[in-house]
Amino acid sequence: MEHGALVDQFDALEGVRAWLAEHGWDGDGEVEGVRERLLEARAALRDALEGRGSDRLNAVLDHGAWRPRMRGGEPYEEVVVDETAWWPGWVAAAGFVRMMGERAERVRKCANPQCVLWFLDVSKNGSRRWCSMEACGNRAKVGRFHQRNRSTGGPSA
Ligand SMILES: [Zn+2]
Repeated sequence: MEHGALVDQFDALEGVRAWLAEHGWDGDGEVEGVRERLLEARAALRDALEGRGSDRLNAVLDHGAWRPRMRGGEPYEEVVVDETAWWPGWVAAAGFVRMMGERAERVRKCANPQCVLWFLDVSKNGSRRWCSMEACGNRAKVGRFHQRNRSTGGPSA
């Protein structure tokens, strides 16, 4: 949400680049291909989160695996994907599955009915309701949103 309107950061390649940079991806030159796969991974995650089954998610997950490794006596996991362009989308999908195994009850849809985002609640008491305070929480605090929330009955997923 930006100024009360839905914005898709993945619409423009610049948005994709910014998102990738935020998530530590420094690959370049193939952002178009990465974007395509990110969109597929995102659609697959939405299907899984919103009750449309996990076939699509599993199809995304087929493109990679975690490979256990050791370095200097320390275990770690390496991401192996069948195409480099799958890396960010696969990591997002695989991270989601891991998260569902660890704290599924903390994975929640933003309480703003106009917002499409889901988030992992890492707050101590587990009472977080918004994807972000800036985008959705503050609007709710203003009060206008509460009325709208009641009249639409909240998230319909
Ligand atoms: Zn939100």
